Order: sequence, then structure tokens, then C-alpha cells
Amino acid sequence: MGRWAWRTFAVVGLLASVLYTLNVSVIVSDACLAVTGIGTVWACFWGPRRHGARPPGAWRLIGVVALLFLVGVMVRPVVTDLAMPLPLIADAITIPAYLLLCVFIAVLLRCRRSLDRHAVLDALIVWLGGALFSFLILAEPAAAIHDRPAAESFMAGLYPLCDITVLLLMINLTFTARTWPVSLLSFIGALIFVTIGDTAYAIVGLQGQIYGSPMLNVPFLIGYTLMGVTALHPSAVELSHAARPPVQAWSVRRVMLLVPALAAPFALLLVTGGTPAHRWIIATGGVLIVTTLLVRAISAVRAQASAQRAAEHQARHDPLTGLPNRRAISAEIERRLGRGEVWVFLLDLDGFKWVNDSWGHDTGDQIVIEAARRLRATMPESVPVARVGGDEFLLAYAGGRNEALSLADEIRGCFARPFPVRDTEIPITASIGISHAKDDGGSAALTAEALMRDADTAMYRAKAEGPGRSTIFDTSMHDEVRARIELEVALRQALAEGQLYVAYQPIVRLSTGEPLGAEALVRWLHPERGQIPPSVFIPVAESAGLIGTLGTWVRREALRQLGVWRRDGTVADDFYLSINVSAQQFSEPEMPLVVASELVEFGVPAPVVALEMTESVMVDGSSVTGRVLYELREMGVKLLIDDFGTGFSALGYLRRFPVTGVKIDRSFVTGLGADAEDEEIVRAVVAMSTAMGLSVIAEGVETRLQRDSLAAVGVTNGQGWLWGPAVPATEFAVHWHASGTAALAGRPEPT
Ligand code: C2E
Ligand code: CA
Ligand code: CA
Repeated sequence: MGRWAWRTFAVVGLLASVLYTLNVSVIVSDACLAVTGIGTVWACFWGPRRHGARPPGAWRLIGVVALLFLVGVMVRPVVTDLAMPLPLIADAITIPAYLLLCVFIAVLLRCRRSLDRHAVLDALIVWLGGALFSFLILAEPAAAIHDRPAAESFMAGLYPLCDITVLLLMINLTFTARTWPVSLLSFIGALIFVTIGDTAYAIVGLQGQIYGSPMLNVPFLIGYTLMGVTALHPSAVELSHAARPPVQAWSVRRVMLLVPALAAPFALLLVTGGTPAHRWIIATGGVLIVTTLLVRAISAVRAQASAQRAAEHQARHDPLTGLPNRRAISAEIERRLGRGEVWVFLLDLDGFKWVNDSWGHDTGDQIVIEAARRLRATMPESVPVARVGGDEFLLAYAGGRNEALSLADEIRGCFARPFPVRDTEIPITASIGISHAKDDGGSAALTAEALMRDADTAMYRAKAEGPGRSTIFDTSMHDEVRARIELEVALRQALAEGQLYVAYQPIVRLSTGEPLGAEALVRWLHPERGQIPPSVFIPVAESAGLIGTLGTWVRREALRQLGVWRRDGTVADDFYLSINVSAQQFSEPEMPLVVASELVEFGVPAPVVALEMTESVMVDGSSVTGRVLYELREMGVKLLIDDFGTGFSALGYLRRFPVTGVKIDRSFVTGLGADAEDEEIVRAVVAMSTAMGLSVIAEGVETRLQRDSLAAVGVTNGQGWLWGPAVPATEFAVHWHASGTAALAGRPEPT
């Protein structure tokens, strides 16, 4: 209905206007007037409510306006036809309607946030010009007409002034319009037609008439219809929407609006400058207009200055916390350099990503704001605190070492209390990197940028040591960083140039030494540096985001090899391959699908594949990790916990995740036969695993003594140099061929 209401209304209204113009009979004309009038009143009350136009109070005003106009139009012929004409009664109804219309438009402008001082002053200037004009040209001559009361004529002449006022407000509405919805266009149209009608009346009034012919009502009918359309059209809601950001104080359009107003006094002087009284009125009006224009100019300059100040503040401050930003504090540090010792503290909240992931970004923001508040409240006034990244803060201090260190303690103190969030409290710590520039000539060369970068390096080192630590930068860190970056570059190259290969270490049955499977271990033979151990390059791959590529390559290569071995009979049908997988790889939701397709591609059944992961995967894994693990297990792949016993002793995850076995870490195996405590631990692990139905493999078995101790506590499978190190595939096939196993059992230990 909403879509058709305004169209139907527009058609009916226009038909009524045409009929009225044809002037068929008094009854038809009155009916047309009634239909349009009552229809518009109904539309103005009903339409906005139906579309939920805001603010509802203002839209009810427009209903009242329509009602008052209607009553005014109906009453006017009656009161002017009286034996003693009383047109003032009609005016008393119509003038308040204009006032309410002004209020309505003003409220809309307010909602659109476009009722700024300039707009109001512009309106005042144009209004003054218009007032001068309509007073001298229309109202005053009308009042001079002899055969009726001056007040009546005067009122009749003032209607165009009312219209000018309304139109002015309207122009403001259009100046700030980004789009031109039907409602806006029809509203403008309505006011234009009403103005035409009023001006026509005023001109007729100059000839001494107050109520001319019914023809004069046609513009009102059309204006009325358009007002109804405005209220009925769904775009009425847009009229109160916030307009585009502040309109320029001066613009060509605005100046063009002011020019006629400024010209009004001069034009009037030429036309009606006859009497001294007129000249006085014109002069006063002119002075008022010029004064307002001056006020307007001053306020525009002021507004520009304050806008500039706001922009400057914005450029140097962080919008979320209101603290200075990186640029601002960098300048601050620069200023302190060379005037004594300067210390820079870089804070990074620990586990902030985890907070964002599990509580949402709003909560993250809340924590950042609270951290900023605590830091600013705790630090002395002379210590600038800036926010330089999502969860990073930077502080600068000029002074001695001891004070700087106690400042670091105070910073840490800010995180002693947990952070209240919604209905819980989250403990948050910060890692702090500290750098400093001494007062001597040498470090005077240090720039603020360099100090901040060093603090960053130190912060990463602090993070590596665990949450809530702080570290002071020293130059050796630079070398480490450089070495790490070089290694990263070399690793990318290694991946691209095929310097990596996979080595296989047998996993055997302790009692017989027969191979049950093998662990695939990646090897890197660097053309110049020789073998680089995975304990060196795997962490680099992880932090450089290369572990996905590397891991996928190792997995594909290992599965391909297993497929070949299975087909050529190198290994038995139940011989399995154990592949190491990093935590990051498990957070890839596509991973199970990829593995499944690789199994098909290389002709390897899922049960002869085991994936090894460290406890950290389960301890701080996301919900994605959990799903990935379940999907892999569903496929039939084995899931083993690597380095078992070295990580978190929270064993609950063993039951929460679909794990199939554990690998006892080498550190517990080493002491077997000599260290009673290690033996107890291994015994406990075996007991627990058996109870939970998990398989157990002992890692790093180097001696017969260790092997026998393991067997004594019930471990059946092992891996280690006692049986052999990880060797390239061809070598593995030679030594561990399924048919020759027995002969190879109990080989001498490598040195
Ligand atoms: P890990 O998974 O615990 O692998 C076992 C490590 O112990 C291997 O070191 C292996 O060569 C070594 N080892 C085996 N038997 C003995 C023994 O009897 N005595 C001693 N002292 N050591 C033994 P490697 O190959 O240097 O690997 C180090 C670590 O690098 C691995 O520890 C694993 O965490 C990681 N890694 C290796 N390859 C990959 C891979 O393809 N992907 C991922 N994500 N990590 C890998
Ligand atoms: Ca492993
Ligand atoms: Ca291990």
C-alpha cells in the first residue's frame, strides 16, 4: 500500500486541481478543495507514522500545519464575505501555520546536523533583504489603501515574507542534500507553489482586494497535493537523516544566495527612495544586513581556525584512547634526544589476539582503553604515553637508569589487576622492550626512529621469554635479528630451489627391533653452510609464515614416498609414517580436505599415517583446530602428541581431543636406568595411556639399558639412535627393507 499511496494521492490531487481550474460549478470546486485539503491532512498525519519518519513529533507538526492551512483557506471566503469583513480571523489561523512550518523545517535541519551558525546567519541576511522588500513594495502600499483597515492590508502584504522565511530554511535543506529523494523534491515544489499563491494574493491585495478569484487558489491546491506526496512517499524518512559532513562556510552557491539580499537596499532606494521615512527604513535595513554579514565573515574565519586545530589534533592523536600517536611521540622523543639520557619503553599486550578472537573486537577496544587510562594515570605528567599500534603503547622518559627501571616496574604494576570486561575479569600482562640513548657523543647520533625500533626488537625478545617480561635492548640483538632475517631469506630460497629433503627414522618394536613405521624429519642441506638443523629453521619458518608451505611440501613428499614403498614392497602393509605438523597448520580449516585428497593421490590409506603435534596445539588451539583434529581422526589418521611431558601438564585435553597416542620426550628417556624420578614419570605415563587406550612410543632411545628399562615399565615401541638415525629415503630402503628386517635388528649404535 505504501508504494501506491503516494501515486494515487498525487493523481487524485492533480485531477482535483484541474477540475478546480475549469471552474465547472461552486459545488465541484468546493468538493475539489475539500478532497485535496482533507486528503493532505490525512496524508500528513498517516504517512510519516507509517514509514516511521523521525522525529515523530516534528512530523505530527506537519499534520497540524496542513490542518491549519486547510481551515484558513475554508474560513477566508466566509470571513471576507461578512457584512463587516474580518479577514484577520483567517490570518490568525494561517500565520501560526507558517511558524509551525518553520519549526518543522528547523527540526529537520537540526536532525541533519546542518543547522550551523553560517546557515542561520545566511538565512538572516536574506530574510532581512526579503523583509525590506516585501515591507516596502507589498505591505506598505497595501496598507495605504483607503477603504479598508490598514492592519488587514498590511497582513496580506506580509504573506510573501512568511514564504521567504520558509523558502530560506528550505534552501538550507537542499544545500545539505546529498541525494534528492522524491520527498525532498515534492516538499520544495509544495513551498514554491504556496509562495506563488501568496505572492499572487499580495499583488491582488495591492489593488485593494483581499479575496480575488477562486483561480488564485489553484497554486495552493497543487502545493497542497505536493505536501501530501511528501508525507506519503517512503523517502520521507530520509529528510531527517544526517547530511554530508559540514558544508563549506563559503561557497559559490551561498554567495549567490546573499547577493540579491545585499542588493535589496540599493534596488529599493532606486524604486521607492522618495520619502525620508523610506530612506530611514532602507538605511536601517542596510546597516543590519551589513552588520550581519560582518558577523558572518568573522564566524567563518573562526570556524576555519577551529576546524584546523581539530584536524591537527586528529593527526597527532589516536582516536580510540585520545593518547598521542606514533608521529607525536616520535617528535617528543626527538626533542629530548641530546639533552640527557632518554629511555623508550614499548609495551605490547600479551595474548591480545586471543582476547579479540574469543571476546570480540569491542572487548579488545575496551581493554586497550582501560590500559591507556591506567598508564596515563600512573605515569608522571612529564612521561608521554602514546598508542602506536593495535595493542602497543610507547612511553618516553628522560633521566637516569635507576629511575627508568623503577618506571618499568610501575608500568608492570598497571597490569597487576585484571581487566574488568562485561561480567568477568581478564588478566592481561604486557611485554616490555626498553631501549635507551646515553648522553655521550656516540649515541647522540641515535634518532627517535632508531630508539623505537630497538625497543621493538627488545620487546620481541621479552615476548619470547614468556608473558609479562621486560628486556633492555643491547646491540647483540641487532645481530640476532639480522641473522634471523638472513636465514628467512635463505629458507625461502631453499624452498624454491629444492634444498630440502625428507629423512626417515625407524620406529621399532622394542622386543624385536622390527620396524613398525618411521618418522619423517625434514632436512636442509645449505649449499655453503651445510646441514642446518630443523630446530633452527622450523621456528624461523613458523614466525615468517613459511611453515604452511614447508609443512605441505614435507607431507606430500613423505606420503609420495610411502606410496612408492608400499607398492614396491619396501615396507609391510601396516608400516606407518609419522609426520610432524605445526600448530599453525592445524588452524587451517581446509587441511583435512587437502590431506584426504593427498591420500587418494598417492594411494596411501589413512590408518598408516600419523600426524605428530605438540601439546600447545590443543592447549591454546582455536575452535577451528578442534574441528580440524576431529575431521582428521574421522578419516582414520592417527594423532600423536610429540615431546609428551615437556609442555603443559593439563592433561584434560587428552580426553577432549581425539588423540590416539603419545611420544614420551627424550628428556625422560635419557635418565632411565640411572634416574629413579624419570622412571616414575615414564611409569605414570604408561599407566595413564593404557587406561585411556593410547599408544606409547619412547623417543631418543640410545642405549640397551634405556631400551630394557622401557620394556620393564611396559613401553613396547621406541625410536632412537639405538636402532638408527633419520636417513634419506634410498638409504632407509636399503637398511629397512621389509624382507631383510631380521638381519638388521640390533645394529651397532652410531656415534
Ligand atoms: P622431534 O619431532 O621431537 O624429532 C625428533 C628429533 O630427535 C629429531 O631431531 C631426531 O633426529 C632426534 N633424535 C632421534 N633419535 C635420537 C636419539 O636417539 N638421540 C638424540 N639425541 N636425538 C634423536 P631433528 O630431526 O633435528 O628434529 C628436531 C625437531 O624439528 C623435531 O623434533 C621436530 O619438532 C622438528 N621437525 C623436524 N622435521 C619437521 C617437519 O617436517 N615439520 C615440523 N613442523 N617440524 C619438524
Ligand atoms: Ca616428532
Ligand atoms: Ca619429539
